[in-house]
Amino acid sequence: MTTISDRLLQAQQRIELAAKKSNREAGEITLLAVSKTKPISQIEAAYQAGQRKFGENYVQEGVDKITQMQTQYPDIEWHFIGPLQSNKSKLIAEHFDWMHTLDRDKIAQRLASQRPSGMAPLNVCIQVNISQEQSKSGIAIDDIEQLADKISQMPQLNLRGLMAIPTATDDLTIQQHECQQLNNAFLKLKQRYPMLDTLSIGMSNDLEIAIANGSTMVRIGSAIFGARDYQ
Ligand SMILES: *Cc1c(COP(=O)(O)O)cnc(C)c1O
Repeated sequence: MTTISDRLLQAQQRIELAAKKSNREAGEITLLAVSKTKPISQIEAAYQAGQRKFGENYVQEGVDKITQMQTQYPDIEWHFIGPLQSNKSKLIAEHFDWMHTLDRDKIAQRLASQRPSGMAPLNVCIQVNISQEQSKSGIAIDDIEQLADKISQMPQLNLRGLMAIPTATDDLTIQQHECQQLNNAFLKLKQRYPMLDTLSIGMSNDLEIAIANGSTMVRIGSAIFGARDYQ
């Protein structure tokens, strides 16, 4: 049977190969293990194999895992990557290290005011809608700068970069175009904020295209933990 440790290694090898093809260093690309819907025992297995960064999509599930695991595993870095309703922002501010899906000034303000003073600033990425699907969350490329300027005024938040979810399609030209658009927006924003270091894009099925287009953080779930059962 393939273990979580084997699959983590395979994911790392895919990252290395993709980096090489794009003349990039694999060390520039962080692997975020997306553990949503998966039990703590599987997170522990990944931890034993050396993984330290985990992503969760559902607020309550993530907070439950963090509170159960933080004493034994204080060096895990927890990333929130799901959609956020504003009434749940306090839980994110009080428990997570990163938040990838910030797309509104109102949520930024709430997170900033709710971040406990004893904690490091919350690392945030602005979620950008690069997909043609109206339903996808994220702000338009033209609105990134305005939101970035507001976030940069909030000392409780540490703006790290941009995040997006490309259209789920087998059409590589669509994905290529979307990833490239995001990378261009990132490079432009970096001219204004040179310390930005995170382009959060790429999942189990599209990590190669994402890495070819500048991704610095791929969010990999099913390729590590197996298919999800949403029952
Ligand atoms: C579930 C999820 C992932 C991981 O997707 P896989 O296809 O399982 O790798 C990455 N990013 C976000 C935002 C997700 O919701």
